Amino acid sequence: MTARAPLIAGNWKMNGLRASLAEAAAIAKGAEQSAARVVICPPASLLHQMSEALAGTRVLVGGQDAHWEESGAFTGEVSAEMLADAGAKLVILGHSERRTARGETDEVVAAKVRAALRAGLEPIVCVGETLGERQAGQALAVVTGQVRGSLPAELAGRAFSVAYEPVWAIGTGLTPTTAEIEEMHRAIRASLVELFGAAGADTPILYGGSVKPSNAREILHAAEVGGALVGGASLKAVDFLAIVEAAA
Ligand code: PEP
Repeated sequence: MTARAPLIAGNWKMNGLRASLAEAAAIAKGAEQSAARVVICPPASLLHQMSEALAGTRVLVGGQDAHWEESGAFTGEVSAEMLADAGAKLVILGHSERRTARGETDEVVAAKVRAALRAGLEPIVCVGETLGERQAGQALAVVTGQVRGSLPAELAGRAFSVAYEPVWAIGTGLTPTTAEIEEMHRAIRASLVELFGAAGADTPILYGGSVKPSNAREILHAAEVGGALVGGASLKAVDFLAIVEAAA
């Protein structure tokens, strides 16, 4: 793992009611001594309450998506400014569940990244290939293409991370081999250096896709892995904390 503190981010997706704030509090308590940066990205409905509940702890709160406009007639959408106003410090953008189900292109993701920067949020930008693309030998080209298309030049000098999440590994229990993760993270690193020069050598590259307590240590200590984006296993404090601990 790189020298900077690993980033462990939990994506709660469309899970969590107010009663789940107790789980977030348990995560904050268990993460008190951790050297990792720990983030929980709850549904937007819980953001404000969770940020208040976790104020003064080491755990930050983040959004799961943001619209590119600041406000306006966009029914059901949430802007980056609204997330920041509710207490978010980071935001996940370009998750494959949005790229696939909502048809988000690299251009849309890049516009959302600009919006996050405008609102002072730290973006976590997701990229990843489908199983078909991997089987066709296109994984490296697809993912590095997403990196180039989704990361606008405005990111230069700003804090952000990239999350490599193979679509076929999300929520399936399947994971790439460590060698496959390292190969992809090295390719992403090369693209980041191409785009952002020396600063690109320091940008954290997270791995996401079926990270769980039993595989976290090996994944988190693979070359060029700077943390994890965790879905299912972030919903239970005991599992998420085991992953946070594995980052040490
Ligand atoms: C995710 O959706 O970002 C994710 C990594 O999910 P899971 O850990 O459940 O595969």
